[in-house]
Amino acid sequence: MRLFKTLLMILTFLLFLLAINMLFFSYLKPGTSFSPVSIEPPRNITSYNGSLQFYPNMLFNHKIITYTIENTCEKAKYNNMIQAFSILENETSGLIKFQPASREPDIFVTCNQSVQELESKQKSSYFIAGEGGAERAVSTGEFWVIEKGKILLYYPRTKECLTYHVELHELLHVFGFKHSDNRYSMMYPVSECNQVLSDDIIREILRLYNLPELADIYITNVSAVKHGIYIDFDIEIKNQGIENARNITLILSSRNKAIDTFELKDINYGEGKIMNVENVRIPITMLNLDEITFSASSESEEMSTDNNNITLSIQS
Ligand SMILES: [Zn+2]
Repeated sequence: MRLFKTLLMILTFLLFLLAINMLFFSYLKPGTSFSPVSIEPPRNITSYNGSLQFYPNMLFNHKIITYTIENTCEKAKYNNMIQAFSILENETSGLIKFQPASREPDIFVTCNQSVQELESKQKSSYFIAGEGGAERAVSTGEFWVIEKGKILLYYPRTKECLTYHVELHELLHVFGFKHSDNRYSMMYPVSECNQVLSDDIIREILRLYNLPELADIYITNVSAVKHGIYIDFDIEIKNQGIENARNITLILSSRNKAIDTFELKDINYGEGKIMNVENVRIPITMLNLDEITFSASSESEEMSTDNNNITLSIQS
């Protein structure tokens, strides 16, 4: 009887151990491999300590961006690219929109990479999954207007993180954003699944694309000489805005009285015009003028007209 009791106690104890074991360790089956759980870092991380973009104020001068995805891109890459576009659309609350191009696209996406090029790329220290950038951008002094972007996707299909990360990273390069030192940022040079599109990038996109899409002409250099009843002058006018300035007129006046008017036609963004004019006749009633003013105006609306006038005093 005593033996039976002891056996029962031992059996109960073993059952207890088994129950404990099942409770706490039942999911630890031998042979199961564990992959680290990726925890998404918060989006309010800083991606950049200094400047965010390759050049300050890089932007397209329109908010509907057109694209072409070449048929060298397999279905998965095509879908990821479309997803990257829609993420940027959603993050900017529709301020920026992407549309398939009917003509020359703003962004050309290709997956075609010659073997030679790929081999030279893979010799670098880490695997490059893609490339993206502004292929053509025009400096206006104040802005860099992106005219053409290109995205090249050549990561293999077997790459572990099969989401839109590479596509969005390259798309942000096209928008002028450079690499980040923060490994949790989408713009870190090496792509990881747990990287986030940080708020500082979105804030900068919102700031840039809320700017008015306008021209901004201003007078850079001017010098003038009065000799007898004539004035000679040199003047340089530039367009630092992001739109072309149409039909520019330059008025030479003195204390609100016009002396002469000059037509300069159009000045495209990033461009300028220099005028050298000799022997502008001063009206007889204004011969004792002590200052002259140059005022430039355009038919196009401008970001600012405060910088369109310069007044020079005549020194004798
Ligand atoms: Zn990159």
